[in-house]
Amino acid sequence: MANETIWQPLLDELKRWEDAGRVARFWFRDDDAIEPTEALDQLLALSDRFSVPMTLAVIPASTGEALAVRLADQSRISVAVHGWTHKNHASASEKKQELGSHRPADQMLDELSRGYERLRSLHTARFVPVFVPPWNRIASDLLPELPGIGYQALSVFGIAKPGAIAQVNTHVDIMDWHGTGGCRPHADIVRDIVRQLDNRFQGNEEPIGILTHHLVHDAAAWDFIETLFDVMSVSRAGSWRPLEEFLD
Ligand SMILES: [Zn+2]
Repeated sequence: MANETIWQPLLDELKRWEDAGRVARFWFRDDDAIEPTEALDQLLALSDRFSVPMTLAVIPASTGEALAVRLADQSRISVAVHGWTHKNHASASEKKQELGSHRPADQMLDELSRGYERLRSLHTARFVPVFVPPWNRIASDLLPELPGIGYQALSVFGIAKPGAIAQVNTHVDIMDWHGTGGCRPHADIVRDIVRQLDNRFQGNEEPIGILTHHLVHDAAAWDFIETLFDVMSVSRAGSWRPLEEFLD
């Protein structure tokens, strides 16, 4: 059950939406899937238990049939393209990027195309034509080329920016990448979700994206997701939507 002190700000914000007769739209993105694992089973069990649709951002070069078989009867799971190999090509002094300006554009566009084709053929029914760049970064000059490959949207982190391709982004990351490596303090994540809700209440119509990485979750991360789904399940003011719904 939710610790009431920590979760109260979210309960209060959802109440505000409910009183206004409004429903906030959420979507859930989990990154770096390659193959079936116990951690993936744990994630899928939460999706099943709370009927929450999820998008797995799958690394095309490393994945194969085993993941497709595991997901075959998971009707709420969609699959998006997460880079090609998820290898960093930036120098040690830069932020990590697979698809920055470190390599020829033609080479990267070829990888973007191979990733699209590979995951579409492995995951036909679950495939969504959305590109999720590793570390949420991609060279801006590649963006106008994405629709020609077949991508309908880009998914990175932060409020969506207008550009050459639509963005369906994530906004709240539960992990503390630069500190403990585990889950961020639950109160901090709750505060971030409430801030996003307030921004949407003021008129921004993009859905709120929650970002997770099942392979590195500690107990606190699993607990956070479970409690979030539990809290949202008793409110009429928040709705988990499939990513497909936000594509034109
Ligand atoms: Zn990743």
